[in-house]
Amino acid sequence: MKKKNLETICIHGGWKPKKGESQQLPIFQSTTFRYETSDQMARLFDLKDNGYFYTRLANPTNDAVAQKIAALEGGVGAVLTSSGQAANFYAIFNICQAGDHFITANTIYGGTFNLFGVTLKKLGIECTFIDPDWDDERIEAAFRPNTKCFFGETISNPGCNVFDIERFAKIAHKHGVPLIVDNTFATPINCRPFEWGCDIVTHSTTKYMDGHATQVGGVVVDSGNFPWEDYAEKFPCLCTPDESYHGLTYTKSFGNMAYTTKLVAQLMRDLGSIPSPQNAFLLNLGLETLHLRMPRHCENAQKVAEWLERNPKVGWVNFAGLPSNKYHALAQKYLPNGTCGVIAFGLKGTKEEAIRFMDNIDFISIVTHVADARTCVLHPASHTHRQLSDEQLREAGIAPDLVRLSVGIENIDDIIADLEQAMAKM
Ligand code: PLP
Repeated sequence: MKKKNLETICIHGGWKPKKGESQQLPIFQSTTFRYETSDQMARLFDLKDNGYFYTRLANPTNDAVAQKIAALEGGVGAVLTSSGQAANFYAIFNICQAGDHFITANTIYGGTFNLFGVTLKKLGIECTFIDPDWDDERIEAAFRPNTKCFFGETISNPGCNVFDIERFAKIAHKHGVPLIVDNTFATPINCRPFEWGCDIVTHSTTKYMDGHATQVGGVVVDSGNFPWEDYAEKFPCLCTPDESYHGLTYTKSFGNMAYTTKLVAQLMRDLGSIPSPQNAFLLNLGLETLHLRMPRHCENAQKVAEWLERNPKVGWVNFAGLPSNKYHALAQKYLPNGTCGVIAFGLKGTKEEAIRFMDNIDFISIVTHVADARTCVLHPASHTHRQLSDEQLREAGIAPDLVRLSVGIENIDDIIADLEQAMAKM
């Protein structure tokens, strides 16, 4: 049968009820699953049979949602995690260990920046932050013999820069390592990084995929395309026997599912950052309408960005949908149907002016959250990054006046009216 389109996968992916079964994905709220003979259970532990035995390793609700996301991204396998942070940690830690090194764009989300620069360092994994605007020569100089992957965000949070996926995939592959892309803001509705050579995709499913601010979650998706065996000396973790799993070699036993199987069989087994099946169910409800919500987010954000650009109280606007934007050409290449609903902008005047603007908004919410059905706003210098000086903010790529506006799917006239009345009181 012909491969289904994204809209159909959003509704039907992962769960195909048989005769008399539940139309909606059931919540298998059970820690464990019953077997009739000891041998049946033993074969599961040996990874010789597929089946459920303990929810930390696999659960039917979680797996159905993971399969839906794998299908949306065009990957061979996916694993749900308890948060986006866990997804990015697992994506890296699945192929990096103490003594290894990787490279990342310096424009990434602050939480990921800290995870990579501070926490992974404590585990002996070093990371070099590069500016994606550097030329190839300067970026390639960051590679070392122990470099294991390259990381970036399709659309960065909060700066809204667009990542040149094809260019960075080529650079990563030239050095024998995979490209990992956090596709949270774009979602597979607007961009499918595997089509541009990316090897592994991650998401904070807390954002658009859920869309209703009901659950914190993440996912790691594997394209199945990276030739681990060609670089076996770089990736012994996948290409040599795993003594903690009866000496099996993931690439030999699982082929293009090696990365995904290792992530579950080793990392989930030992670290256990799974979502509850209840949360996977809520995420699935969000996914059912992702294809309807994303175009509306983009349409509303485009109108708000154009309105902000015309507004004399606004100093600058960063939204790749604007023809004047530095990343517009990249957005047209990778995100031709729209980028996302998030806009970064700066108000003329002091930090206090930005605070006054935020204090006067009406239904738009001041929240740490982003990429939600409701329009929300955050001033990183006063909130998430308030401990940093203006100079430190600039070093982290965040202008002190940056306001992050996440445009929701309410009526566009109401959104602009709320912004207008708040700015009038500045
Ligand atoms: N990646 C991106 C691009 C994000 O914006 C976030 C959170 O804002 C994360 C990862 C972390 O996700 P979570 O908050 O679900 O742990």
